[in-house]
Amino acid sequence: MKTEISIEFFPPQTPEGLEKLRTTRQKLAELKPEFFSVTYGAGGSTRERTFAVVKEIAAEGFDAAPHLSCIGSTRESIREILAEYKEAGIRRIVALRGDLPSGMAETGEFRYANELVEFIRAETGNHFSLEVAAYPEWHPQARSPKDDLEAFARKVKAGANSAITQYFYNADAYFHFVDEAKALGVDVPIIPGIMPIVGFTKLARFSDACGADIPRWMRKKFESFGDDSDSIKAFGLDVVTELCERLLQGGAPGLHFYCMNQAALTTEICRRLG
Ligand code: FAD
Repeated sequence: MKTEISIEFFPPQTPEGLEKLRTTRQKLAELKPEFFSVTYGAGGSTRERTFAVVKEIAAEGFDAAPHLSCIGSTRESIREILAEYKEAGIRRIVALRGDLPSGMAETGEFRYANELVEFIRAETGNHFSLEVAAYPEWHPQARSPKDDLEAFARKVKAGANSAITQYFYNADAYFHFVDEAKALGVDVPIIPGIMPIVGFTKLARFSDACGADIPRWMRKKFESFGDDSDSIKAFGLDVVTELCERLLQGGAPGLHFYCMNQAALTTEICRRLG
């Protein structure tokens, strides 16, 4: 059976970055993803760039899913964005709370992602298919795992169709999360987010910030490679492919790749998965 995959991009800041992303997209299109999603900067900082990439993807005939975060926004500004996307023929949105950009103190008219999901449903009915974020290793600001799980269930009950997880390297965390979510009555697909490993130092820093655990055995091994980027890449490919295999064997309904606007690793992992 074909595994459904989706692939995430960030909107580039330069014309060269945009051109490179077009080439990346052409290569990744060979994997026949269900959709390409495009991230949205904190506080709406990439609003125009996200929209521009989304429109290009849609014009190429792919299903494009803009991410949309609500913290720091007004209802009116979200309403405008929804109208733009509707007019552009977009049918899927990744609905998030997001994080306040540094220096911004006002949370705006939305506090949590479930309020955004509710708002989108109230404004646009079933026009958009809505994805929300899930955290198998828990969101870093969550008061407790129980609270986080309940917050997740609230987002789904507010009208999400599907969820994409934060990346993780421990398959058991995912299976545990899915079991607990099911026990709370969540019955939408929970797609694991997969982060291919390009380099270790940056990944370690980023993982600390977003609360994703790099298991000790992996960390020690990456550290032992020092600057040997070929060994880091080779080991990274092995562990991430094995993770995907375990997830799919255990019933994961698809894979969402955080490809970091690069085609090679995602393509190689999918090739190895067959
Ligand atoms: P929420 O679901 O609102 O949860 C945020 C926190 O609040 C959690 O700790 C939750 O437990 C808690 N919470 C929820 N409801 C309540 C309540 N009623 N009372 C008390 N606590 C509550 N960030 C970007 O800036 N741009 C992107 O494009 C982007 N894309 C992402 C895509 C995916 C698949 C994922 C997993 C994350 C993405 N992020 C993105 C990161 C995300 O914005 C951050 O993790 C953010 O801190 C939380 O957003 P959320 O939608 O998960 O928030």
